[in-house]
Amino acid sequence: MGIATDEARQTSVFIAGGGPVGLAMSLLLDRFGIDCVVVEKSPTTTDHPKSRGCWVRTMEIFRQWGIEQAIRDRGLQDNSDMFVFLDSIAGHEFGRTRPEPNVGHTPAWKSLVAQDAVEEEILRVVEKSRHATVLFNTACESFEETNSGVNVTTRCEKTGEVTQWTATYLIAADGAGSQTRRSAGIEMVGPSTLAVMSNEYWRADLSRL
Ligand SMILES: Cc1cc2nc3c(=O)[nH]c(=O)nc-3n(C[C@H](O)[C@H](O)[C@H](O)COP(=O)(O)OP(=O)(O)OC[C@H]3O[C@@H](n4cnc5c(N)ncnc54)[C@H](O)[C@@H]3O)c2cc1C
Repeated sequence: MGIATDEARQTSVFIAGGGPVGLAMSLLLDRFGIDCVVVEKSPTTTDHPKSRGCWVRTMEIFRQWGIEQAIRDRGLQDNSDMFVFLDSIAGHEFGRTRPEPNVGHTPAWKSLVAQDAVEEEILRVVEKSRHATVLFNTACESFEETNSGVNVTTRCEKTGEVTQWTATYLIAADGAGSQTRRSAGIEMVGPSTLAVMSNEYWRADLSRL
């Protein structure tokens, strides 16, 4: 059993979940001078690469936020966007797609940069911000709406300590299966499962290929 702290902590915007949506939201709120707290139940940002690229519109937005170059520097070189069809990873090549040509429609061309790097770069900015706080190892347990906003209960994943928060707004950024969304009685629109996928994640030096 955790121990509840005596005083409720206060923030304007409480964000449940520190994935790309929660972290980006905190960066944006900070830019508007609005204080916020992000709680993320994992100990760190994702260690799985997940998404493997940011398209032009995302890079344009990162440019406005001043983090385009830092994120681009973590990605693959331009013209790496291709699919190669092989009978094994070092075997016979049947063919490959051509990289999408950059015809200069945007100053912020897409980048093949993985989500773990993107999250780290956003976090780097948020950690230096004046108005946003990110708490890892902290799960959003429950919340209740009040006349002036919302009361939120969190639990530290390491110590079990329970903390009460008051906030004007609560943002459910805890992923597609969001417990916060479900608790608020907000249904998903459309089918809940679009596809079942499997990922194999390994590291190897493939530069000679
Ligand atoms: C293997 C894989 C490959 C993918 N590939 C691609 C791709 O190629 N292109 C693409 O566009 N997308 C891809 N995606 C999808 C992409 O990763 C998601 O769309 C994106 O992460 C969604 O961001 P999010 O912030 O909404 O949610 P999430 O990234 O799911 O973040 C939610 C966060 O909330 C935290 N959380 C959950 N519950 C609580 C709680 N109660 N309290 C506190 N924290 C909580 C979770 O730990 C998590 O860190 C991939 C996903 C996976 C898993």
